[in-house]
Amino acid sequence: MDILKLLSRSTNPTNKASSASNTTKLPSSGVSANPQLFHDATSETRGKKRKRGDRKAGAQVGQNEEDDGDVIDFFSTKSANPIVPTTKKSKADAPSKSASVESPAPKPTKLLDEGECKQILRSHRLKVTLLPSNDPIIEKKVKKSKKNKVSKKDVKKPEFTQIYPQPLTTFSDLRSKYGISGRMADNLAQQGYKIPTEVQMGGLPLLLQPKVALSEGSDLGIFDTSENINLLSVAPTGSGKTLAFLIPVVNEVVQRRRKSEEKGGHCLDAIIVAPTKELASQIVNEAKKLSLGTGIKVVGMKKGMKIVESEHSEDTDSSSESEEEDEDENGKTGKKTSAQPVAKADILVTTPGLLLSAVTVGSEHTPLPTVKTLVLDEADVLLDPLFREQTLGIWDSCVNPDLRVTLWSATMGSNIESLASSTIQARQQRLQLPTSARTIRLVVGLKDSAIPNITHKLIYAATEPGKLLALRQLLHPTARSTSNIPSLRPPFLVFTQTIPRAIALHSELLYDIPAEAGGSSRIAVLHSSLSDSVRDSVMTRFRNGEVWILITTDILSRGVDFRGINGVVNYDVPNSGAAYIHRVGRTGRAGRDGGVAVTFYTKEDIPYVKAIANIISASEKQAGLEPSEASVQKWFLDALPTPTKEEKKRLKKHGVEARRAGLEKDEKDGKGKKKMLISTKSGYERRLEHNRKGAIQGSKRRVLAQAEERVDKGEESEWGGIDG
Ligand code: ADP
Ligand code: MG
Repeated sequence: MDILKLLSRSTNPTNKASSASNTTKLPSSGVSANPQLFHDATSETRGKKRKRGDRKAGAQVGQNEEDDGDVIDFFSTKSANPIVPTTKKSKADAPSKSASVESPAPKPTKLLDEGECKQILRSHRLKVTLLPSNDPIIEKKVKKSKKNKVSKKDVKKPEFTQIYPQPLTTFSDLRSKYGISGRMADNLAQQGYKIPTEVQMGGLPLLLQPKVALSEGSDLGIFDTSENINLLSVAPTGSGKTLAFLIPVVNEVVQRRRKSEEKGGHCLDAIIVAPTKELASQIVNEAKKLSLGTGIKVVGMKKGMKIVESEHSEDTDSSSESEEEDEDENGKTGKKTSAQPVAKADILVTTPGLLLSAVTVGSEHTPLPTVKTLVLDEADVLLDPLFREQTLGIWDSCVNPDLRVTLWSATMGSNIESLASSTIQARQQRLQLPTSARTIRLVVGLKDSAIPNITHKLIYAATEPGKLLALRQLLHPTARSTSNIPSLRPPFLVFTQTIPRAIALHSELLYDIPAEAGGSSRIAVLHSSLSDSVRDSVMTRFRNGEVWILITTDILSRGVDFRGINGVVNYDVPNSGAAYIHRVGRTGRAGRDGGVAVTFYTKEDIPYVKAIANIISASEKQAGLEPSEASVQKWFLDALPTPTKEEKKRLKKHGVEARRAGLEKDEKDGKGKKKMLISTKSGYERRLEHNRKGAIQGSKRRVLAQAEERVDKGEESEWGGIDG
């Protein structure tokens, strides 16, 4: 079944339109032969790229009418993993389904020599660097003064040393070389993971067995003081960072529980922080799947959940009870050890505000001495001014001397990197730790770039009404066939700058989908002003394929993994290059081809488009596109104005000003003209006349009225209210 056939039933599509859409390989077809983005055969040089041409070739071979059947199952369940394709294109064998018996202990395998490590890491665009043990800022100062004569004795080793750890070439090595538990290895196999992505390839050995991973680099002095390492990891969107941080975390808990006398006990071992509830709950799900049958308890932080025993925090024998507690999957309730948090968990996944308020007493942060690992997912957002205080507060609470911090994102400015480094060092001094773990940075591909396996389109729509028209063209295939607008098939995400704009756009488009195709139930809106239960239900309906078009704000721009999403529409230009990279990274997950990212811009946006055009251009270069094929041409890039630093800051903080005000229908601009941003009532009334009898029901009208009420209350923010 083809959604567009349904969508276009009333518009009588041309053959051209349908055949065009049929020849496109889509992420929703559920096939990803290889999750890696950079997989040159054995290249030792850096020049080889994943060719866009390969994707085109793939698109022609792989598609046939049967795709229609595939396409309807947009969000294949996580168990239908891309690495175990279900179509006949599959080369990989499906993993054994029976995991009732834990895998036998493996035979140890031989380590690779340095040359082999180098070659593999390079061909996968993996760069691993040992960061300086001193504050980089101080180092820089020292460096400057070196020029003004410093004796050779004082000259230190290079600050950033490139290292070549053992890469993980197959998931089976996790058990044989790095000793993960048999149960976890089975869980991974059950989900079909076989070939590691680049970030898993570089990150997992380092986090699981740093000494083994760096056996060739032992002369670097990494382990002079501590056997632990911290990791700063920058890898593209959809490249499997979640597994890269979860496997070591779950493994750590399994090992601890094995050694512990209280086998069934729970002790908060790891905290995973993510910026949104949606992302946090996705991580909880992934962690639960990974720790199935291990007895480990993964908990998603909820409002009001008690983490520390506030009154008796010094009472080492406290054995308090909490409403939040429930039985673990084995039906046992664990006993507490010293300073045991009240909510029994081994792994806690949380948004920053929720956890910080749970550990804050007055102006103090209650220590969490049992926490051995702190994971910051989307670390650059968590350390951005908006969340910085909360994140650093949590970090502050993690007082265990052996704490390991790992930071993950697809984008990481140098300011964030140095903030992370200096926090690690400041913590060491504050806690007067004799030993300190070294920090390693792992970068996959080009830092701060959009994935090369999607198609970008930057479309000039001149005005706000022009954008609405252009979006409708995307929705209607007949219009699309005669224009330059790329093929975009549902399901897709539409991003707006603010909550009121998302609401207004939703009401505007509610009746654009014909009743035969499911009508208004196919379009939904998700933002932070909605209640948790509504947010959950929208996510579920979108994942199930009931909702085809999801209009949202930047709340869904980070981390959320809808596997088979075909495209992303930036209805409003993103406020920064990083925002663009993350928004468009919702498609093209795990190396899937065929995703489309469409960005509309108006006259008002022109001063801010350059950053995005640059990212598109770099991504197209990475994909090996010829200059003539590129959607962003050099002359266009040269012609675009470069925003000043001030403009960039303002943009990041507030977005394009022209879109912030004027949502009320009667608001006038300076010249007394009516502002037309996203028209609401007029469009709605217009369609009332066009719509078939009975298409608009009272209940739908109430939804609209509520939405408008919210707009009038001015509940708007780009990233607001995540914990709200
Ligand atoms: P990131 O955090 O880097 O944006 P995710 O961890 O959300 O990416 O993973 C994106 C998708 O890739 C998920 O659906 C995940 O199941 C899948 N995935 C991760 N690792 C692999 C792998 N090694 N093989 C196949 N699919 C993978
Ligand atoms: Mg992620």
